[in-house]
Amino acid sequence: MSQTIDGGCLCGRVRYRATQAPLRTLVCHCSFCQRVTGSLAYSESLFSMDTVQFSGAPMRSYAHRSDTSGQQVFVHFCESCGTTLSLTFERWPDARAISRGTMDEPEDVEVTAHIWTRSAHSGGALPAGIDCFDQARATLDGVAETPRRFDVPVMIEPRAPRHQED
Ligand SMILES: [Zn+2]
Ligand SMILES: [Zn+2]
Repeated sequence: MSQTIDGGCLCGRVRYRATQAPLRTLVCHCSFCQRVTGSLAYSESLFSMDTVQFSGAPMRSYAHRSDTSGQQVFVHFCESCGTTLSLTFERWPDARAISRGTMDEPEDVEVTAHIWTRSAHSGGALPAGIDCFDQARATLDGVAETPRRFDVPVMIEPRAPRHQED
């Protein structure tokens, strides 16, 4: 579906335009996404690589090796203001995630699933009527996981601290 989605970083030096609707939009509660955003979770829209064009200042990137897959995730950020605009993936070279929070109109995309809910921080909630996955949407071998759907929103309750492996 043809759709234009514009966005950029906090200081405005990096801008982008996507020219197709995203394949999906996720809220990810994994510990990597919590760390990289410094927040409860990371909301990302996934696009085909060639449907997003960047303009303005070049981004810098940081390569992180995933504890789960052992492959690299590349974090792309503005070198002036530090905003994380995008992720790319060694595992899915044709995909680009765009940080939903950097979109000029974040409501132009619709969240399709919450993932890695098993490491969700307390204080947040999982919405009703949407696919919620304990871990990723599929196993590392590509086998689809079965999501849960809640009838009413579910608050994430505090729990004892523990080491997280995801
Ligand atoms: Zn910036
Ligand atoms: Zn994540």
